[in-house]
Amino acid sequence: MPDCIFCRIAGGEMPTDLLFEDDQLVAFKDINPQAPVHFLVVPKKHIPDLPALTAADASLLPAVQRVIVKLTRQLGIDGDGFRVVVNTGAHGGQTVSHLHFHVLGGRALGWPPG
Ligand code: AMP
Ligand code: ZN
Repeated sequence: MPDCIFCRIAGGEMPTDLLFEDDQLVAFKDINPQAPVHFLVVPKKHIPDLPALTAADASLLPAVQRVIVKLTRQLGIDGDGFRVVVNTGAHGGQTVSHLHFHVLGGRALGWPPG
């Protein structure tokens, strides 16, 4: 596995603003927030991107959904709404090659994205 910043965060080797952790996932605040609330939900397993998910990861997406619901409620953005983004590949703007779900809220977000 390449030296991976999100593996280091998931392994507790790098400090972060942690919001959630269980055996499968971590969630932490994005270091460069694009909205008043901007956190990342990240599998502990090194999965490079969305297409790389396999049947062995079947429990992951429901777990991500549960964490998103829990944290958006906890952070008070469930009422007004929020956006979940998975940037994928060069055109998708993915800069960290370890699957992660952006969750953004706390303001009205424009569409389409740039
Ligand atoms: P993407 O461009 O979709 O791959 O998203 C990568 C995200 O990771 C960006 O929003 C970065 O701000 C964020 N990021 C990079 N390093 C860290 C870090 N050490 N802690 C928290 N967020 C980070
Ligand atoms: Zn990784």
